[in-house]
Amino acid sequence: MRVRSKQFYERALKSIPGGVNSPVRACKAVKSDPIFCERGEGAYLIDVDGNRYIDYVCSWGPLILGHAHPEVIASVYFASKRGTSFGIPTWQEIELAELIKSCIPSIEKIRLVNSGTEATMSAIRLARAYTKRKKIVKFEGCYHGHVDSLLVKAGSGLATFGIPASPGIPEELTAHTLNLPFNNFEAVKKAFKKYGEEIAAVIVEPVAGNMGVVLPKEGFLEFLREITSKYGALLIFDEVITGFRIGLSGAQGKIGVTPDLTCLGKIIGGGLPVGAYGGKKEIMELVSPEGPVYQAGTLSGNPIAVSAGLATLKELMKPGTYEKLESISQKLEEGIKEVLKELNLPYKLNRAGSMLTLFFTEKEVIDFETALTSDTEKFAIFWQKMLEKGIYLPPSQFEAWFISLAHGEKEIEETIKRVYETLKEIH
Ligand SMILES: *Cc1c(COP(=O)(O)O)cnc(C)c1O
Repeated sequence: MRVRSKQFYERALKSIPGGVNSPVRACKAVKSDPIFCERGEGAYLIDVDGNRYIDYVCSWGPLILGHAHPEVIASVYFASKRGTSFGIPTWQEIELAELIKSCIPSIEKIRLVNSGTEATMSAIRLARAYTKRKKIVKFEGCYHGHVDSLLVKAGSGLATFGIPASPGIPEELTAHTLNLPFNNFEAVKKAFKKYGEEIAAVIVEPVAGNMGVVLPKEGFLEFLREITSKYGALLIFDEVITGFRIGLSGAQGKIGVTPDLTCLGKIIGGGLPVGAYGGKKEIMELVSPEGPVYQAGTLSGNPIAVSAGLATLKELMKPGTYEKLESISQKLEEGIKEVLKELNLPYKLNRAGSMLTLFFTEKEVIDFETALTSDTEKFAIFWQKMLEKGIYLPPSQFEAWFISLAHGEKEIEETIKRVYETLKEIH
């Protein structure tokens, strides 16, 4: 059934580490081999063996319009005819910057980069330069790209400094990173009490997507805003996933909390490599060449990527877009919840707009610790069986399912039916 995928995988293993260019694609967490993609079509992914799947990965978030959206494809085509990269500015970069600013008012100035990782890395450098402080607070289970100082495991206790989560990162580089439990007011208070004068910034996914979807507790983000302001630290929202997913103004607009800096990526590139960081003018003006904080990129603001991003955002700005996304997402949530009830299963479903996770646990999932109570063995079997039934879910318990505007009633109903059949088989 997946003969060609298997052949490609074996071949890939010989020249690419693990056969993939980003680890989670290898499907190890669900004890499977990767499927190799032939093409995408709206809500569907078609593999090299000709199998069709309803896709809930959507390139890990960027494809909010679905695969190969005609407007995005046309923009890429026409942009590339003019040339693929120039190394001098284009007016389209201004247009994208202005468009993002008009949607997210906390962003007064913005710099385009090539990935989410670059965005968070640069935002942290900037925060440290602006505050002239070294320490960074992040939260367990939040992912901010593979930046050295942000790839930390929790130490023991609530306010200890992180230890590197990967070989190749010297302790010295994580020694200034505090890793605290998400949604835990006390831990944050304690950390600020102890190190408040040394903390440059708190970086957080305002709605966490990288431990599975975990919503901020009532008042948690407001609390972060308050305590950072009180101590003169910056608040950085990593909206690489939530930017233009939770709504046009991101999670910050929805929840009504204004960060000092925002990191973007994924959707703003329309499926091409783009990231961005932006925020208050007086902070952003420190960025080179306006200020002394060095940050650069040969392909930053790449004309094709910018065009794809512009086309995507313009589609999203059409009236009714997010209402449609919400209604279809709500249908999926309600459908799965009904299935759980019908089968008498205690599993928990967390959803924020068009991102959701079904956790195979009976505990409410509010942070990384509770996410880890999930039965990952069972999830792996669930994932495999869903794949056989033509549904491609993120190949890990700790990821968000992404719904796109290409997902219609038909796909949602099919998915709910398959969830029912699969859970019935395995529970
Ligand atoms: C994906 C992601 C990143 C990293 O983006 P890349 O483009 O993969 O480097 C950073 N932060 C969050 C919240 C993400 O989901």
